[in-house]
Amino acid sequence: MIPGPVETPQNILDAIGAPTMPHYGPEFLAMLTDTVDMGRRLFETKNDVLLMPGPGTGALGALIGAAGKDGDGAIVIDNGFFADRAADIATGHGLTPYIVEFPWGEVVDPEVVRNFIKETLPKAAADGHPITQIIVIHHETSTGVLNPLKEISAVSNEFNIPLIVDAVASGGGVPTPLDAWGIDGFVTVGNKCIATPPGLGIAAVSPRLWQIAKANPSPRGWYYDLKIWAHYVEEWAWHPFPTTMPSNNIKGLNQALKDIFAIGPAAHYAKIAAAAAYLRAGMAEMGFTLFPKTEAAAPMVTAFNGLPGLDIGAMISYLNDECRIIISGGLVSLRGKIFRVGHMGGASEKPLMDEFLAGVRDFLA
Ligand SMILES: *Cc1c(COP(=O)(O)O)cnc(C)c1O
Repeated sequence: MIPGPVETPQNILDAIGAPTMPHYGPEFLAMLTDTVDMGRRLFETKNDVLLMPGPGTGALGALIGAAGKDGDGAIVIDNGFFADRAADIATGHGLTPYIVEFPWGEVVDPEVVRNFIKETLPKAAADGHPITQIIVIHHETSTGVLNPLKEISAVSNEFNIPLIVDAVASGGGVPTPLDAWGIDGFVTVGNKCIATPPGLGIAAVSPRLWQIAKANPSPRGWYYDLKIWAHYVEEWAWHPFPTTMPSNNIKGLNQALKDIFAIGPAAHYAKIAAAAAYLRAGMAEMGFTLFPKTEAAAPMVTAFNGLPGLDIGAMISYLNDECRIIISGGLVSLRGKIFRVGHMGGASEKPLMDEFLAGVRDFLA
């Protein structure tokens, strides 16, 4: 019940356990195309969807590195741990981050972002770091906050600046209509809201971001250089990616997406939201409150405040040792102050949530 990876349904593990196929040939390509098409439907986009083997952070770094050349500026919208990391990723690519900061646990205010952009654009240009991208975390897993992506994207589009979204923990968990919202770069993974094992980054790249990537003169390594991916997508129809693909893992993602479309994305989102509501109600009975404001709380991970005198570390150990349930503590400054429970994959099943609630009740007793 951690914020990912999540407990994977057995039929997805079975799909992954089938004999390995090569990462080319008609059978593999048909499966890849089918998987990517389902990804496009889930994220409501005509943009290219790339499966980039590796963690979500790898694909995110590829998009951030593609969107700016060395020396360019990047506005980072920061209300948590993963946004701090996104700023480090930008720095690692030779970009200069300009950070618009909100306290951890608060939701991003698009109006504050608009004013920050207005002030920063001339300043950054004068510093020699013209802003070429805005980076935001959709679901900041470190605090349980869901940021208002539609409104943030509208602001970035007002200024005609591509938005790069870390949707690692929200993709497939809430609707993200990329084309309607005008989002250029979007990254998620299989192993959170889509409930596969880890191993696949999933990136949606708009035509505009492709153009920027292809014109980017700065070196970006090789594997995670979007220019290299563009070359393979455009020139290697039989092998539209640069390296060997984990075909078993892609088969698992294919099965997971089929499972989502079998019930429909709306029902999939509703299941996660219902799990969050159920578990929060049970915790409220024991006196627990949410760390973020209720209206800012994401449905896929709940961050709870501790109780007076409660040793959160001891509770986490008790749940692990006595109930075989793993949850997460707080990160960095929130360590010992909050704990986080996921509602994705198997964690959304009621019997498991009941075991968790009973475990917490026993520990308190
Ligand atoms: C889990 C998570 C990540 C890290 O994903 P990796 O696959 O480990 O790279 C990044 N951002 C957010 C918001 C996350 O929840």
